[in-house]
Order: sequence, then C-alpha cells, then structure tokens
Amino acid sequence: MILFKKTLAQKLESIGLKLNETVLDRCAAYYGHVLEANKHQNLTRITDEAQAAEQHFADAMALCRVIELPIGCRIIDMGTGAGFPGVPLKFLRGDIDLTLLDASGKKTEFIKNALADMNVQAHVICGRAEELGRQNLRESFDMVVSRAVASLPMLLELGVPLLRTGGTLAAWKGETFKQELKEAATAMQKLGCAETGRYTAGLGAILLIQKQKPTQEFYPRRFSKIKSSPL
Ligand code: SAH
Repeated sequence: MILFKKTLAQKLESIGLKLNETVLDRCAAYYGHVLEANKHQNLTRITDEAQAAEQHFADAMALCRVIELPIGCRIIDMGTGAGFPGVPLKFLRGDIDLTLLDASGKKTEFIKNALADMNVQAHVICGRAEELGRQNLRESFDMVVSRAVASLPMLLELGVPLLRTGGTLAAWKGETFKQELKEAATAMQKLGCAETGRYTAGLGAILLIQKQKPTQEFYPRRFSKIKSSPL
C-alpha cells in the first residue's frame, strides 16, 4: 500500500488538497477491503494501486475543490458500486451525513461489511433511485453525487428528485461531458435545474447541477421509460 498512499497524497497535493496520515490510512484500508472482496466478486476493474488511488480516491475528493460542503450536509451517492465516490468523501469529511445507494445487494453488502469493520457511519441502502425518488427519499438530500451510472439526461431524472430545492447534483463525467451537457438541455429545463459549476481534470469533469425548482410529481418515471425515452 506504499505506492497507493504515495500516489494519493501526491495527486491530492497537486490539486491543492492535503490529507493527514489517518485519512490516507483509512483510504488504504478501504482499498484493501475492495481488493480482497474483488477476488470473488466483480467490484472494480481497477486493481492497480496507483490507478486506484487516482481514479477511485483522488477523483472523488476533488469535489471539495469546486464546492464547499456545509458541515453535516446530507449526501447520497447514487449507484455507488463499491463505494465511489461517496466513501472517499466520507473519509475526507467525517461530518457528512452519507447515504450509499445501489441496486445491487452484493455491492451494498460488501460496503456494509467494510464500513462496519472500519467503524465508519453511513446509511447503506439497496434499492433503485427512481423508486426511492418517488417514495421516502424524495427531496431529502443537499447533494447527489454519482459516477459512471447513466447518461446525463437519465442521471438527472434519477437524481434530481432526491434533492431538496437548492441542492446540487455532482456528476463525474468523462471526455464526452460537453456533448452530454448539450443532450441534457431539455432534461435540465424539465427538471428545473442548471449547471452552476464545473471542475475539469484531465479530459473529464465534475459537473455541478443545481436544482432550482421542486420536481414535478410525474418525475422520475419508471426506469423503462427513463431509458427508452430520455428527457
Ligand atoms: N459509482 C461507482 C459504480 C459505477 S457502476 C463507480 O464509479 O465506481 C454503476 C452502478 O450503479 C452499479 O453498481 C449499478 O448497480 C448501479 N445502478 C445503476 N442504476 C441504478 C439505479 N437506478 N438505482 C440504483 N443503483 C443503480
């Protein structure tokens, strides 16, 4: 884990974030859990230490360079997979009230066990965003964070209903982010939101999209609809 910690510290320092040794150790310990579970479960394709430090941990924490997260803010990681980007954010900012949501029970079980082992508090939920966004999680969060889950128009319909008005969705996107933003113009308008910030790193970006109006009651639609006719 020496290379992992060194790469993570260097990468974060290069973007102006300094981690103390405890946070680095926690990241390394969590990554250890991911690697161990990955032997018998398909959790991540990234198994190289340096690559994982950059792409799973540093990229997640880069969010703190573009938006100030208020103390105790309620964040949901939608489609968290093995816990990214939500878990690294929690290590960096222990005060955030974090919910980790994924449709796969195997993944949420992994996260539950790993976090319990590390004594980290978070709400881990197995469920679908579009269902919970019509039920008890609607308009519940200050922020939705999400990476590698869906195209931007679909992501907005899944995520914006979970936000309170004034809350922000942060979407980690690859090099096609400009094209995706164009394609999401109608979704933004229908869901009453707008881009309010952007952090570009390498070829990709973290897009910040703020919800400016309450969500109309017919969103989110059923997943089959969201997919077959995206907004
Ligand atoms: N965010 C992680 C995982 C990306 S893979 C990362 O960047 O590494 C996409 C994950 O989203 C999968 O684990 C899948 O189960 C989950 N997912 C896809 N659609 C979902 C939905 N509608 N609700 C909840 N989880 C969803």
